[in-house]
Amino acid sequence: MESKRNTEQKKTILNALMCADHPTASELFEVIRRENPRLSRATVFRVLGQFADDGVVRRLHFLGSDTRFDARTVPHAHCHCIKCGRVTDVFDGDFTPLLALNEVGDFTVLSTEIEFNGICADCSRATGDN
Ligand SMILES: [Zn+2]
Ligand SMILES: [Zn+2]
Repeated sequence: MESKRNTEQKKTILNALMCADHPTASELFEVIRRENPRLSRATVFRVLGQFADDGVVRRLHFLGSDTRFDARTVPHAHCHCIKCGRVTDVFDGDFTPLLALNEVGDFTVLSTEIEFNGICADCSRATGDN
């Protein structure tokens, strides 16, 4: 009985995540709440966790930031600005072979994240002196 409602909720949350840019669960909840005020914070957090556990979305753990979520499952790396927190996708041929590795020696790789922490162009312009 609750399954149809669950399916609708999951669709709403996944669609919102696809339109958002690596949001935290709280940020995504704020976006969803504007159009779906009846969807609770607990539901958004729970469904996001399920998606991540099932491999539908990726969990990202950036330096000094809450867990972020990414609906883009195509292999890509991330640049994370430590000043403004902006996360940008990097699709670069140099990294793709690394991201596609299934094993390293006798170690089986289940997931790989490539994360560059630094200062984005806007922030380095804003400070002016570096
Ligand atoms: Zn920045
Ligand atoms: Zn991404």
